[in-house]
Amino acid sequence: MQILLVEDEVSLSNAVKTILERSGYFADTVYDGRTAVEYATGFVYDLIILDVMLPELDGFEVLRILRQKSVAAPVLMLTAKSTVPDKVTGLNAGADDYMTKPFHPDELLARVGALTRRKGSVVINELTYQDLTLNVNSALLTCCGESVQLSKKEFEVLKVFLYNPTMIVTVEMLINKVWGVDSDATDNNVEVYISFIRKKLKYLHSKVAIKKIQCLGYRLEEAKC
Ligand code: CA
Repeated sequence: MQILLVEDEVSLSNAVKTILERSGYFADTVYDGRTAVEYATGFVYDLIILDVMLPELDGFEVLRILRQKSVAAPVLMLTAKSTVPDKVTGLNAGADDYMTKPFHPDELLARVGALTRRKGSVVINELTYQDLTLNVNSALLTCCGESVQLSKKEFEVLKVFLYNPTMIVTVEMLINKVWGVDSDATDNNVEVYISFIRKKLKYLHSKVAIKKIQCLGYRLEEAKC
């Protein structure tokens, strides 16, 4: 279950991410409205947790843009404000639920559970593409009966591709998702891990390759024999 968490208070974002991940969800964190739109339209999420007061674009504006672009993921809005006009604005803009800060972790998990169940999603234990299967609990990558263990970073990088197998994934997205927006990671770090994964794909004789798309990023492709 993949969740996009949009919250500009880093300490709260970290706390919510930890709560979600301990309960078996994956959470991508972004810290401003513009990046939220980029992620929510570029990747598929089971739920978006969206703060109202954000830099660049506020949460209501983000929500309006997402609904205009037909992003159907349920949205749980977070805000420090508990006034009725704010709630009405959020629900009118297409939010599915609303939660006032501060909140108890149990309340968060109950609402997340209700919203993701409502959509009928199931917890994903495996990601598959072509001849590859990635076990998201063990980080074991399997192809035609052969398996190889991925390191944590290799796993995180490959997961981004397998969630979005037909999409061009930019270096910036990989850095934000795998290393974090405030990290010092560069294109070189990404290139190194992509090369590690390529070696493992080769070892498994997989038909899947990670192709570099010049100036844009990377995408999964069927390897040319
Ligand atoms: Ca905020």
